[in-house]
Amino acid sequence: MERHRFLRRFYPDQWVASAYGINYRQWFEKGYRAVAFDIDNTLVPHGAPADDRAIQLFRQLHTIGFKTCLVSNNKKSRVAPFAEDVHSDYLCMANKPAVRGYRKACERISVSPDKTLFIGDQLFTDVWGAKRAGLYTILVRPINPKEEIQIVLKRHLEKPVLKAYASDCLLQNPEEAKNDILKPQNDARETAGKK
Ligand SMILES: [Mg+2]
Repeated sequence: MERHRFLRRFYPDQWVASAYGINYRQWFEKGYRAVAFDIDNTLVPHGAPADDRAIQLFRQLHTIGFKTCLVSNNKKSRVAPFAEDVHSDYLCMANKPAVRGYRKACERISVSPDKTLFIGDQLFTDVWGAKRAGLYTILVRPINPKEEIQIVLKRHLEKPVLKAYASDCLLQNPEEAKNDILKPQNDARETAGKK
């Protein structure tokens, strides 16, 4: 249990291939009532508009009974049209990973943080803050592996944390780790390739 004590604070609650492969109905049955998302490289490639897949996902979430909120550090001009296309609430200029943005997003949709999932592709920007705000965090592989230089630098910082996380998961639950962590890298690349 003392393994990776420092790095553990950055661990996501789960790490999966894609926001599009999650069994959301199961989370609803567990008592979760809202899903908050990062946009860029989580739902679509950086800067891309909402595509059919994203629109369908939000339709499915709303049908299940979830409230949704987009939480982005980007400007209104990027976030508002996307939110309109997927019929979601949103918070732009959220100042992630500051805790306040995630709490504000939960207030906006009137769901408490402990009943809200947060899904994003960046460990320090998305997951770390959401976790401190009390949301359940799911890290996904970035849709587009080609990223801007400042994000590439952050990816290097993520590496030791994710390596520790993966090795802890392998110790605790080898089967789940094999499915959710070790395989997804290829899935994410394949998804990006199909675009
Ligand atoms: Mg992102």
